[in-house]
Amino acid sequence: MQFIEALKLKSKLFFLFLLITMGLFAFGFIGATYVNAMKKNMDSLYFGSLIPVTELNEIVQTYNYGLADTVYKASRAEISPSEAASKIESSLEYINKKWKSYSSHFKTEDELHYLEYADLELNRTNDYFYKVLNAVKSSKDLSRISIKTLEKKVESIHNILQKLINYEVNMANYERKKFLYAYHSILMKIGISLGVIILGVLVMLFYVFESIQKDQTRLEVASKKLKLANKKLENASYTDSLTNLHNRRYFNFIYDREIKRAKRNKAYVTFMMLDIDYFKQYNDTYGHVEGDYALKSVAKVLKGTLKRPGDYVFRLGGEEFGVLLSDTDETNSANLAREIGDAVRDLEIIHESSTVNQFLTISVGVVCCIADDALDEEVLISRADEMLYEAKEGGRDRYVITSNASKAKIA
Ligand code: GH3
Ligand code: MG
Ligand code: MG
Repeated sequence: MQFIEALKLKSKLFFLFLLITMGLFAFGFIGATYVNAMKKNMDSLYFGSLIPVTELNEIVQTYNYGLADTVYKASRAEISPSEAASKIESSLEYINKKWKSYSSHFKTEDELHYLEYADLELNRTNDYFYKVLNAVKSSKDLSRISIKTLEKKVESIHNILQKLINYEVNMANYERKKFLYAYHSILMKIGISLGVIILGVLVMLFYVFESIQKDQTRLEVASKKLKLANKKLENASYTDSLTNLHNRRYFNFIYDREIKRAKRNKAYVTFMMLDIDYFKQYNDTYGHVEGDYALKSVAKVLKGTLKRPGDYVFRLGGEEFGVLLSDTDETNSANLAREIGDAVRDLEIIHESSTVNQFLTISVGVVCCIADDALDEEVLISRADEMLYEAKEGGRDRYVITSNASKAKIA
């Protein structure tokens, strides 16, 4: 069923629709065909057996009650000649009509032989009754009619017709058996045909559904992969490739969010600006590769010192870092700033051209306050920058902290 696999989802659904429609059409067509065949069988049973038997019976009855009885009564003057004449005439007419109708039904070769004989006998008997009719009409003495002859004539035609009736009844039985056989075989054919159609449609439906399900799974897997790739891409766009710290883009995204959160909770917010001391000279002395290595080492120290889930460390650019803390009071913030400075110094990265220490050092500007509605995010940054400047001015390799986030001089 590879061709199903190759179809697009829309085409698969259309194929499904087509399949069901075709199945229903086949269902209807086969049903109609067999019902038609059944109707033909019923017709042949009805017109081939039932009607002929009825017609023959009516002829026999007419001979008995329409003719023989009338002639008998007329011979005994129990009815008037005119009444007898009219009855005989109408009975003969009726018999002729019925016999004509009976003879016109389809007959086999064998049946035709007996029919010719019966026709001859019937005409002979009718001739006898026509003669009687003429006698009645010409007012002859009807008592001279031989009842014996009348009985013989009627009995003879009765026997002939009875044979035909028996034959037709046998035929009816035979036709009925044939019909029942045909009925059962048609039922079986309908069952088998419909079974094959249903099975075929079900098999195809199974393949189509399976294929749609596979598509769905493939789509889900692709969507998961895409989400993962997007996540990776997003992470990459928020990460500094040299230090693996969050970059300035991420800082812009996180900073506002965290300040708003601190404002809502009226919580402590701490922002630190960190800058490596005499880093230009470091680069000049040891080269950029060593400079990059030093940057990575400082980043590691920052990450290692600030491990709480709410602590954020960013590389804001060059050899400048930013730290954002929440729920940390002034004392703890100061401790952390000192810890960072100590840890950087303790890396013992030789920095010969530094005038403050033989090792690489860092200066930190810290602002720590309780966030309220009056707090200006921009001011917080510039205050930290001012504190950093003070730390540099104060001799570097130190931190300066303030809890006043409102006195900034914005340029
Ligand atoms: P100060 O103590 O006043 O901060 O002096 P400084 O030399 O550190 O200040 P300055 O801002 O003049 O120098 C920063 C230097 O940092 C300049 C540049 O050579 C170096 N730098 C910036 N980004 C990178 C980087 O990605 N890799 C390396 N190796 N050096 C960088
Ligand atoms: Mg700098
Ligand atoms: Mg510097």
